[in-house]
Amino acid sequence: MHIVSIHAHPDDAEILGGGTLALLAAAGHAITIVTMTPGDKGSDEIGPEEIAAIRRVEAMTAAALIGADYRCAEFRDLEIFPDHASRRTVVELIRQLRPDIVLTAAPSDYLADHEITSALVRDALFAAAAPNYRTATAALPSIPHLYFMDPIEGLDREGRRVAPGFIVDVTPVFETKRAMLAAHASQRAWLMRRHGIDDYLRAMEAWCAERGREAGVRYGEGFRHYTGHPYPRTPRLEQLLGDAVKSTIGA
Ligand SMILES: [Zn+2]
Repeated sequence: MHIVSIHAHPDDAEILGGGTLALLAAAGHAITIVTMTPGDKGSDEIGPEEIAAIRRVEAMTAAALIGADYRCAEFRDLEIFPDHASRRTVVELIRQLRPDIVLTAAPSDYLADHEITSALVRDALFAAAAPNYRTATAALPSIPHLYFMDPIEGLDREGRRVAPGFIVDVTPVFETKRAMLAAHASQRAWLMRRHGIDDYLRAMEAWCAERGREAGVRYGEGFRHYTGHPYPRTPRLEQLLGDAVKSTIGA
């Protein structure tokens, strides 16, 4: 199977789905981590193209830790919009990658880049399987399975908790997940300068511990399967992950 993660910025996939991607990679599946942008506005001191170059390397390094490929769709931070050209770009990317399963951003999240990425990916999966939606690459035979990651801190844009459909126990691969996030050294340093404490890794760990508690395991990641008509409804990701999939307990 080919599992493709498409999130907005370098580090989002590592924070919200890195452990699950590590489990899937360890089980022998092909993984591609796509970021919509190269994180070009993620610095106060370094110019946009310079920080973008640094962050592409960081994202590639993080992906390589689990043997995953990395692709950047080359949008720009705070410039992701749900227009025709953007959808065509994402459809063509999806047709080139031919995923079986796609993991993307939550539909409601703290930042428009995340929400628009989610909508673009959802709609592009539908279009990617429509032969008369023409791009350079031929249409897919069917719509891939779609799963949403958690929003950041599990909250929608109005601060309401978003319940996951299921939680993946990532405890066995947590050190790998932490190393993937630590590969984003420029962001860790940026946040350390801003907050005065090294809370980049700590915040991720606290979040995974909270999701883990909801499932009775040490570290967890939450997902929701998008099953709107006519997207595939079989629990394909859950089947690949087997015993690592936990339901929530009293969340
Ligand atoms: Zn982001």
